[in-house]
Amino acid sequence: MELKDYIATIEDYPQKGIVFRDISPLMADGNAYKYAVTEIAQYAQDKQIDMIVGPEARGFIIGCPVAYQLGVGFAPVRKPGKLPREVVSAEYEKEYGTDTLTMHLDAIKPGQRVLIVDDLLATGGTMKATIELVEKLGGVVAGLAFLIELDELQGRKNLGNYDYKVLMHY
Ligand code: IMP
Repeated sequence: MELKDYIATIEDYPQKGIVFRDISPLMADGNAYKYAVTEIAQYAQDKQIDMIVGPEARGFIIGCPVAYQLGVGFAPVRKPGKLPREVVSAEYEKEYGTDTLTMHLDAIKPGQRVLIVDDLLATGGTMKATIELVEKLGGVVAGLAFLIELDELQGRKNLGNYDYKVLMHY
């Protein structure tokens, strides 16, 4: 299946000069959605994964069906103020200033093997903060999986030596 047929490209969104890759046509097509989720689940198959972790909001859309398919749990990464119990936090750099991501303190048990899933790797800031959260909780990052990597932004350089799976490169 040519997954790129299901990615919409929007010029100058959300700001002038940005080329936005929109995964909603992929989600809207049952075959394409299932194919993409299955590819990531197959990547995870021999990694003894205990938990899937995904940042809001599109990390949920891909991460949850992967967790379901593998028969493991899912732990959400959220913006501050969204999780009701005690959290661990990590800051990351945005274009202007910093932002914070959080996870519940008991979302990962020490030693659990985690696959982190998101729709898209751009500068890597979101993923770097997510890795930090999982590791602060004692989790072992066994892999990172994305539908899309924007190669030009070189987000990978930000992330260190983790095992990767990327379904589409732009
Ligand atoms: P990063 O932190 O710069 O790597 O940005 C990645 C995060 O921003 C991911 O959670 C994406 O959902 C979102 N993102 C950045 N650029 C795009 C895009 O072109 N399409 C969809 N999501 C994007």
